[in-house]
Amino acid sequence: MTPEIYRVRRTRQETHDTFTLELEPDEGAPVSGFAPGQFNMLYAFGVGEVPISVSGNPTRPGLLLHTVREVGTVTQALRRLKRGETVGVRGPFGSSWPVGQAAGRDVVVVAGGIGLAPLRPALYAILANRENYGRVVLMYGTRSPEDILYRKELERWRARFDMSVHVTVDRALGTWRGSVGVVTTIVPRAGFDPGSAVALVCGPEMMMRFTILELQKRGVGLEQIYISMERNMKCAIGFCGHCQLGPTFICRDGPVFRFDRIQPFFELREV
Ligand SMILES: Cc1cc2nc3c(=O)[nH]c(=O)nc-3n(C[C@H](O)[C@H](O)[C@H](O)COP(=O)(O)OP(=O)(O)OC[C@H]3O[C@@H](n4cnc5c(N)ncnc54)[C@H](O)[C@@H]3O)c2cc1C
Repeated sequence: MTPEIYRVRRTRQETHDTFTLELEPDEGAPVSGFAPGQFNMLYAFGVGEVPISVSGNPTRPGLLLHTVREVGTVTQALRRLKRGETVGVRGPFGSSWPVGQAAGRDVVVVAGGIGLAPLRPALYAILANRENYGRVVLMYGTRSPEDILYRKELERWRARFDMSVHVTVDRALGTWRGSVGVVTTIVPRAGFDPGSAVALVCGPEMMMRFTILELQKRGVGLEQIYISMERNMKCAIGFCGHCQLGPTFICRDGPVFRFDRIQPFFELREV
């Protein structure tokens, strides 16, 4: 339960309300490894502690990256941290995307808004061993062009011949010349083999629900679909019960679940 002390190396503003914190251990200790999809508890001293997914590259440890949207007290306090200031880190915790099990199969990644942050480490891991996978498809939707995360990286990925990247926005503003419409509209026309593909889905619950329906219509089995669930949590070690959902604890058994295993509880609202 005791946090490790990390220092802010840099804060990168990603969108108007979202930033990436680059952290390094105090006194140069090595950064602990993590699996794509796992999260840390970040403690803004004197303010509070929140779960935030790791958004960096698991194949290039050294820096700990978290992409955070400012929504309330703790996330705003994290945004105010200056270079060299400290933050407490507990973790990494939780289950991970099935990157190893997906070997030899097509991988379909569907992200909504900040949901791309927990999926980015999975994409890094897959692209680091690209020859092990079939087709790799990323479908990413945001509310507006201003909400698109990691623009430069998306452009680099889009330029690759071994991956297809579809970005769409709900509402087009200004000079946007890309696709308009919710991300689920891309699922029916994306190129992948529904019989064998593994789908990794993360975003608002409404978006995940409709994405799963579209994937099902394409013939993707529920056991081929993985989602990441967010619930209020406190201890992160399956002890306090804050994030309990039916018989599972999101912090300990999730946040990544194979959809057929969480389906009965997916529709339950947070208490
Ligand atoms: C496993 C896990 C991984 C997560 N990964 C990330 C991540 O990578 N990046 C990230 O930014 N967040 C992530 N979150 C969500 C993050 O933990 C919350 O946004 C954070 O706890 C809010 O704390 P706060 O003190 O800033 O806001 P609070 O003061 O607790 O809440 C302020 C207001 O924001 C609302 N709110 C709280 N959480 C959210 C939310 N997620 N979305 C919209 N409104 C919200 C509250 O209902 C309230 O109205 C994750 C959550 C979990 C459980």
